[in-house]
Amino acid sequence: MAFIVAIDGPASSGKGAITEIIAKKLNLKKIDTGIMYRCITLEAIEHNLTEKDQKEILELLNKTDIVMNENKVLLNGNDVTEKIRTKEVNELVSQISAIKELRYKMVEWQRKMAEGKDIIMEGRDIGTVVFPDANVKIYLDADVEVRAIRRYKQNLEKNINTCFEEVLENIRKRDKIDKEKEYGALKIADDAIVVDTTNLDIEQTVKKILEIIMNKQGE
Ligand code: C5P
Repeated sequence: MAFIVAIDGPASSGKGAITEIIAKKLNLKKIDTGIMYRCITLEAIEHNLTEKDQKEILELLNKTDIVMNENKVLLNGNDVTEKIRTKEVNELVSQISAIKELRYKMVEWQRKMAEGKDIIMEGRDIGTVVFPDANVKIYLDADVEVRAIRRYKQNLEKNINTCFEEVLENIRKRDKIDKEKEYGALKIADDAIVVDTTNLDIEQTVKKILEIIMNKQGE
């Protein structure tokens, strides 16, 4: 039977970096579900749509093709790896991803993508909605200011011009919307193990998660 590791947690809790390392170490297929919501948000922006235009967004979704390669994201054949990380997308993605019917479709796709494979999937609702029977469920968390500092530093490294307060504000706003969603809200699954990375670096976090996975595999 396929082995499924679900990694959930708020914005900038380190899910991306950690998932990437663990996927390589354990030879698991990595699926970042945030990319999927970011792509449809970018599509919405490019068609001048907002979260109020639910019908149009669902129609767009049916025509949307997302390919996630190792380090590249292709949206309808175009490389959008950087475009899906802009301030405009960050500002709208939580509102768009709150559309219930859109989430139904995404969850369906996510389950299909994982069929028959050993995977590590990251997002907000993986252990609660997408794979409630996942073999391992981790909820990664960290103090909001620490998360904002990490994101701010990443932006500087990528030459993305932002101010710290703006980053902090966006993370707070996204957390709030993500936690209050009617369907697929960000919450800790009953059987998830919470890993607080506030005082851990990437290496320490990876070590901790690998231990959790090994323990589960041994059960
Ligand atoms: O993980 P990332 O920050 O890239 O996700 C971007 C946004 O996509 C989140 O703030 C959230 O609103 C949405 N998302 C979601 N469900 C997921 C993954 C992401 O609603 N499984």
